[in-house]
Amino acid sequence: MKKIAILGSTGSIGTQTLDVARANKDCRIVALAAGGNVAKMEEQIREFHPVVAGMWTEDAASDLRDRVADLDVKVVAGMEGLLEIAALPQSQVLVTAIVGMIGIKPTIAAIKAGKDIALANKETLVTAGHIIMPLAREHHVAILPVDSEHSAIFQSLAGEGTDGKSPVVEKILLTASGGPFRGRTRRELENIQVEDALRHPNWSMGRKITIDSSTLVNKGLEVMEAKWLFEVGLDRIQVVVHPQSIIHSAVQYADGAIIAQLGVPDMKLPIQYALFYPERRYLEGKRVDLFELGQLTFEKPDTENFPGLALAYRAAEVGGSMPTVYNAANEKAVELFLERKIPYLEIGELIGKAMDRHHVIENPTVEDILAVEQQTYEYMREGLSCK
Ligand code: NDP
Repeated sequence: MKKIAILGSTGSIGTQTLDVARANKDCRIVALAAGGNVAKMEEQIREFHPVVAGMWTEDAASDLRDRVADLDVKVVAGMEGLLEIAALPQSQVLVTAIVGMIGIKPTIAAIKAGKDIALANKETLVTAGHIIMPLAREHHVAILPVDSEHSAIFQSLAGEGTDGKSPVVEKILLTASGGPFRGRTRRELENIQVEDALRHPNWSMGRKITIDSSTLVNKGLEVMEAKWLFEVGLDRIQVVVHPQSIIHSAVQYADGAIIAQLGVPDMKLPIQYALFYPERRYLEGKRVDLFELGQLTFEKPDTENFPGLALAYRAAEVGGSMPTVYNAANEKAVELFLERKIPYLEIGELIGKAMDRHHVIENPTVEDILAVEQQTYEYMREGLSCK
């Protein structure tokens, strides 16, 4: 039995993880946590019977307690609840599928408790990779990527170790779809509306990550994630725009060979691979038909009209607390864009401004990271109210 706890069970990755669990009878869901979606959590509890379920607010937890009073499930709340779920004695693997830096502390708690991590939450490695990776090595736990690109790299490294440190690894080729606005000029981007940005050409994902894909910020976060996950320098991570999203990423080796993972865009594959690694299992679904596809194309990323990627490389090069500023400024900017308070192009501008004014903390602690996150949110709020 694979015993699984999920943080963010009601979201896009969370529900797809439950689809994988449903299809694999040797899985047992021991804990679930979500933000405020009590109705969906109730449904999930009735189907999967976890030992513990967590909601973010005490109100939501109390509502849930009333709804599932007939069941034998402990309902917890807040960060304390997330930490309890992360370190739950009954679980073996923690799926981190919540959005934001809120994922850092539970991930640390799970590592310390010896749980493997199926990592979807990008922010954890982007902002605290220097803490998470050494801690995982110290506690001999595996950090198994759920992000499709990182899973593809992980799969392409099979047989050569799970990191990029092997001398035969030359380069990581991180693919990007280019998002819905690929090829557009800056002028054409000026009037982008929320609905346009939420329409991703290939992937169906949560709202925030869909906007991040359209600005290339998502790719920027993935570059930083890859740096930590595979222990490679930024100069060995190359972003390749591949609009069909069939090659999910690749590794280039010292003999010139490129090994890639291909598949239809379906997050269930990387989720299942992470849950059962090193075993590869059957997964129901569509297969890539190369004849139907006909061709696969590649382009260089447009870093001028989409500054999100270049800013990410800058943040990663500076290091320390700068990736936190990049991430927090983007989070706030995306939120404001979704609330229709700022135009689309201001997302990149605001990230750049927040980074320009930041005094970097080298080797930040978790508390430093969370403080910098709050300072960045504050700066974004002040900046906007002065306009
Ligand atoms: P969604 O927005 O779809 O889901 C987020 C989940 O987190 C929901 O279950 C939500 O609960 C829960 N949540 C939010 N706030 C809290 C909180 N304070 N405490 C507990 N739970 C909370 O996001 P995605 O599934 O798209 O993304 C999750 C993570 O995975 C992100 O970091 C993203 O970058 C990464 N990722 C996503 C991919 C995708 O295809 N979607 C691909 C690769 C990575 P509720 O519904 O109750 O609010």
